[in-house]
Amino acid sequence: MRTPFIVGNWKMNLTLSEVNDFLKQLTDKLPDIKKVECAIAASPIFLESLTNYCKNSPLKASAENCFYKDKGAYTGEVSPYALSDMGVDYVMLGHSERRKYFNESNKSINKKVKAVLNNHMIPIICCDETMTKQKHDDHMDWVVNPVSEALKGVSVSDAKKIVIGYEPSWAIGTGKSASVNETQEACCLIRKTIDELYNDDVANQVRILYGGSVNDKNAQELMQQKDVDGVLAGTASLKPKEFLKIINYIK
Ligand code: PEP
Repeated sequence: MRTPFIVGNWKMNLTLSEVNDFLKQLTDKLPDIKKVECAIAASPIFLESLTNYCKNSPLKASAENCFYKDKGAYTGEVSPYALSDMGVDYVMLGHSERRKYFNESNKSINKKVKAVLNNHMIPIICCDETMTKQKHDDHMDWVVNPVSEALKGVSVSDAKKIVIGYEPSWAIGTGKSASVNETQEACCLIRKTIDELYNDDVANQVRILYGGSVNDKNAQELMQQKDVDGVLAGTASLKPKEFLKIINYIK
């Protein structure tokens, strides 16, 4: 049984006082972690506040990115070792905005996936069809490459823990989410890819999320699909009331 997982991605938004105010509004309103797991991905400057809050809450803390080296002369980068030491649980990797604006490649994402796992955190690997469009004409083939590249050299026991986000870039921040059928088809294809790379035990344990214009109206139907284990919400995670409605979808 895969526990549903809902992740808010704050991106480069909010100030420290807004973060603290947001977290205060979640107190005592989060779902039972045995039924629904929730996390927020925040900028490194807010992670100390977030991890401190998470110590007394079922909420999990996620970074939005990190580097693949633990320490050294890499000015401006974020160490996975330091994130883990701070109590961060998850690290989002390969978000389409990172690929688009910061030239993230499947190769560097693979190094980051291993660095995150080596530091006892769980990667949330984002992918979508635009990442291999040039190489794969058959649309059923599109997502195989970013998933298999990201997982190169990752052991079976580590692969079971990972989370994959299907995040069509055309749906991110546009207000136009993928349809329920498109989402199920994509998440099913991702699960099949994991099965082929590893085995059905791993494929059945990996959680696959949908992200792209999720809101409190469409989240529940998307999450009801067989291969969709939860959602990633960007814009909707910036308003505590809307985020609370999404995470408390089980009455
Ligand atoms: C995201 O960027 O991860 C995302 C899902 O954004 P939005 O919900 O705003 O489309």
